[in-house]
Amino acid sequence: MDQMTLEPHYADDCVFCKILTGEIPSYTVYEDNIVKAFLDISQGTPGHTLVIPKTHVKDIFAYDADLAAAVFSRIPKIARAVKDSDPAIKGMNILNNNGQVAYQSVFHSHIHLVPRYTDQDDFK
Ligand code: ADP
Repeated sequence: MDQMTLEPHYADDCVFCKILTGEIPSYTVYEDNIVKAFLDISQGTPGHTLVIPKTHVKDIFAYDADLAAAVFSRIPKIARAVKDSDPAIKGMNILNNNGQVAYQSVFHSHIHLVPRYTDQDDFK
């Protein structure tokens, strides 16, 4: 899977494809041949990170099994790296919205990593 070759396809008018091509800036957290992880522009909590495949995939329904395995198998490593970046991070929500009715607003599949801190009282 790590040796998987990805032929990137980019969609017109996709903000995350533009991040992949460098047309739109982002703060990269992690990157390899399959995924890019970068800070969410609207930080739910400090360190809120998005992980995207390096090719345009609209949502979970559009993945083939190999790409899904490659993308999702990277999540624990990236989550650990985000957690290890700040000792105040004690936990993390990992979310993936699919479809407008499920609150997806950017139609390039992405996984949210939302760090959780001991001092927050908005989420129990
Ligand atoms: P929601 O907006 O309900 O969270 P999504 O699950 O589709 O829906 O999440 C899209 C995420 O992409 C949002 O958290 C938003 O802040 C983020 N976002 C949009 N544009 C950018 C950008 N240019 N750089 C980083 N993050 C972005």
